[in-house]
Amino acid sequence: MGELISIEEGRRRVLAAVRPLASEEVPLAAALGRVLALDVDSAIDVPPFDGSAMDGYAVIAGPAAQLKVVGEARAGHPSPQAAREGTAIRISTGAAVPAGTTAVVPVERTEAAADGLVHVDASSRGDNIRRAGDDVRAGQVVLRAGTPLGPAELGVAASVGRARLRCSRRPRIALLMTGDELTEPGAQLGPGGIYSSNGPALAAQVERAGGLPATRATVRDRAEDTRAALGRACEEADVVIVCGGVSVGPHDHVKGALAALGFDERFWGVRLRPGKPTWFGTREDMLAFGLPGNPVSAMVTFQLFVRPALAALQGSDPSPRRGVAALDEPIPRHPSREQAVRVRLSAAEDGWHAAPTGPQGSHLLTSMLGAAGLALVAPGEGEIPAGERVEVELL
Ligand code: AMP
Ligand code: MG
Repeated sequence: MGELISIEEGRRRVLAAVRPLASEEVPLAAALGRVLALDVDSAIDVPPFDGSAMDGYAVIAGPAAQLKVVGEARAGHPSPQAAREGTAIRISTGAAVPAGTTAVVPVERTEAAADGLVHVDASSRGDNIRRAGDDVRAGQVVLRAGTPLGPAELGVAASVGRARLRCSRRPRIALLMTGDELTEPGAQLGPGGIYSSNGPALAAQVERAGGLPATRATVRDRAEDTRAALGRACEEADVVIVCGGVSVGPHDHVKGALAALGFDERFWGVRLRPGKPTWFGTREDMLAFGLPGNPVSAMVTFQLFVRPALAALQGSDPSPRRGVAALDEPIPRHPSREQAVRVRLSAAEDGWHAAPTGPQGSHLLTSMLGAAGLALVAPGEGEIPAGERVEVELL
């Protein structure tokens, strides 16, 4: 490991290596969490017609009057009659207002009278009428390429009549866990064994970041096995994530295997705790991350380096979501490394507060529970006192 780089520099190198993926058509029902690859514009006005915002009577606006009820307009069933002086047309919310209508009087402000007559209160032009195009004008771009699709985006796409959206392809991720000690959950632990927690945690992070966990394997600490498994992992992946075995021990074979497979190192070692032994390299458009095996380090370095790569591959903004929060407890600084301290966040009258989740060892996976963010604590002497505001990256 040469000179360690900063988190920012690591991210910069990762993003510099990303070539955005191609796009594909995706039905709305499958598009949640995907990233839009092409602007969506609307061919129609939304709403498509002038309609009623209330149940009531469509009229010509004017003073209170007794009017003759001449028809009805229901949602989906426009009235053939037009509005005229002296008449009213019963109307439902969402119905197109009859031609000539200048106001809708809500039913609460009317009173039925005998002989098909209705008494209506006074109204002004435009009362309770929703205009065509109020929400979206024909020709307007409603969603921009690069937008991650959430519930609101899917609703707006549907409102302009789109059944399918062109989205970036999901990056295919190969996940490789290394270690003779690793045991699958559900199996019996042998002497010196531990359950492999990084596989499920990283696969879940991959999915949250829009990636497709395409292959997942566990490989023993042998150079040959590592190289063979990595070779297979590369066959179909856009991104290879290898976890553990990246360090410099006699049984760490990952860096050698990646080099043998033709990957060029882009960085090795970050001025970060937890997560110092993080490796990143590329082979043409393929990205490879060697993440530390310690469970917290693996999740933290995924968040800091892999997540932005997956965002950029899909054409969405890879910038971290960061804010500022006041510390509820002092945090000792590390003399030379930036720390990513797992914190709970709470809102108080004076703004956001951050409280460390507990002891912060990189093997203490429960320190990730309830963590809404990573407080980024710059290196230095002493401690950051309680009450001081620190930058927090939201998880
Ligand atoms: P390594 O990076 O291979 O030296 O591993 C560092 C630490 O992380 C060791 O204590 C490993 O047992 C642990 N570790 C490695 N891989 C996993 C995994 N998949 N799940 C849980 N712990 C792991
Ligand atoms: Mg290991």
